[in-house]
Amino acid sequence: MSKYDVVVIGSGLGGLVCANILSKEGKNVCVLEKQHQFGGNLQTFNRDSKIFDTGIHYVGGLSEGQNLYQYFKYFDIAEKLKIKQLNLEAFDKINYKGKIYSYAQGFDNFIETLTNDFPSEQNALIKYKKQIKEICSHFPLYNLRPNLGLDNEHLYFEKSVGDFIQSITSNKTLQNVLAGNNMLYAGIPDKTPVAIHALITNSLIEGAYRFEDGSHQVADLLIESIVNNGGTLKSNSEVKKLEVENSKLKSAVLANGEVIEADDFISAIHPSHTLAMTDTKMLRKSYRTRINELEETSSVFTIYISFKPGSFKYFNYNYYHFNENSVWSIPTYKKNKWPQEYLFLTMPTSNSNKYAKTATVITYMQYDEVKQWGNSSTGNRGNNYEEFKRQKAEKLIDQIEKQYPGFKASINNYYTSTPLTMKAYTGTRNGSMYGIVHDCNNPLKTKISPRTKIPNLLLSGQNINFHGALGVTIGSVFTCTEMLGMEYLLEKINNA
Ligand SMILES: Cc1cc2nc3c(=O)[nH]c(=O)nc-3n(C[C@H](O)[C@H](O)[C@H](O)COP(=O)(O)OP(=O)(O)OC[C@H]3O[C@@H](n4cnc5c(N)ncnc54)[C@H](O)[C@@H]3O)c2cc1C
Repeated sequence: MSKYDVVVIGSGLGGLVCANILSKEGKNVCVLEKQHQFGGNLQTFNRDSKIFDTGIHYVGGLSEGQNLYQYFKYFDIAEKLKIKQLNLEAFDKINYKGKIYSYAQGFDNFIETLTNDFPSEQNALIKYKKQIKEICSHFPLYNLRPNLGLDNEHLYFEKSVGDFIQSITSNKTLQNVLAGNNMLYAGIPDKTPVAIHALITNSLIEGAYRFEDGSHQVADLLIESIVNNGGTLKSNSEVKKLEVENSKLKSAVLANGEVIEADDFISAIHPSHTLAMTDTKMLRKSYRTRINELEETSSVFTIYISFKPGSFKYFNYNYYHFNENSVWSIPTYKKNKWPQEYLFLTMPTSNSNKYAKTATVITYMQYDEVKQWGNSSTGNRGNNYEEFKRQKAEKLIDQIEKQYPGFKASINNYYTSTPLTMKAYTGTRNGSMYGIVHDCNNPLKTKISPRTKIPNLLLSGQNINFHGALGVTIGSVFTCTEMLGMEYLLEKINNA
């Protein structure tokens, strides 16, 4: 039997950030990961000798002095990452009703660019900037200052993004354009808190980046630093059970029967899976019911494209395409209208700026559509499933060909993933993209504290705080402050 100061369950960004911080602060940490590969959504895979990202395609806040950069600096990874800033004049392009609108980096550029499309809306865009900045100012860890409980961030979890955007402008086209990248948070206009829209949008407008040669480098560098700090990581180590003794968590039991003890535990997997690992009465029935009943964000269908060499130009922006009059595709989702929207991106490699080696296409897909194959295992789902995937992929590829002529002929091979793949690979319920849905109509219900009634069990990961590289990083820092102290840790981070 092994014993550690801290056991971290799950090696996604949430688990790795916690392990990085705690090992740096002198704790003997062990990360347990059920998959063969570490990294969760940071993982990449190889086909045709090319790297494909799975769950992180672009991030904000990575310019020197910005929030994510400073956090990454403290983790000892900021200066080692290979990153590529997206086009300043257009990091996102939104094709809405056949016209393309660009999001530029830098708020003043953002306003100027959209004012060219909406000359009478300049004041609305200035108001948008002012209010986004105001909202973001209320989030202490987003601004790298200690959370002393004096801020009003809860107010922005009580207001919907839909109401917010409508309060900015009555111009319906601009309303849709401002919500054009809402796939980044699986937006539901009357549910998604405006806070999530503001924090994500602001960080991207301030600086939008892709990872060159794959997002796994973030996991690799975090792991390198954990190991340098004396930490341990175990793959193929699925935690099945958590054992409580004397009102404290004593050990984690792995699928192979191995028992691992620790003084403290951080679970960075879906909280309902954590709760299912112990039947202790310390976690009340009402708490379990609340967590288990939380709605999950939509799942996705993804095509991973491998291009013929030198055939398709790399484009340094993200392309969102809408086939409908509303950019809010989740509440209007209809199987017979699939795909209502898609995100198309070419991925950068360090040895080729001109031509793309790979591209990714992402669109929503509900779990229901693949439920019939839900009891089969990866690679053994049968011909009907393969045919289903092929038809869906061809439909999407035909649509992209219309926007990017020559695209189809440039494809060497393609691979697909469905909600079943997502479910198998991240362990999220029904292959959910970002974990739980935050609901501004009942913010307390969907707010999960990192603390539990078991004093030495903390929670982390995308369901605590919010999802994404920045959301998970901030949430994980918050979890670690429970062990290390808020002011202490923030001082360390700011002085890194
Ligand atoms: C298709 C897609 C695209 C995305 N694009 C972006 C993007 O462009 N930018 C961005 O910022 N964010 C993006 N995200 C969101 C981002 O990837 C996630 O919010 C974030 O990576 C989640 O990290 P996590 O640590 O909470 O969870 P995960 O990455 O899911 O990690 C959880 C880990 O726990 C392991 N695990 C589960 N159960 C157990 C167990 N019982 N025992 C041991 N280990 C276990 C899993 O195998 C997994 O490795 C995207 C997500 C998806 C799905």
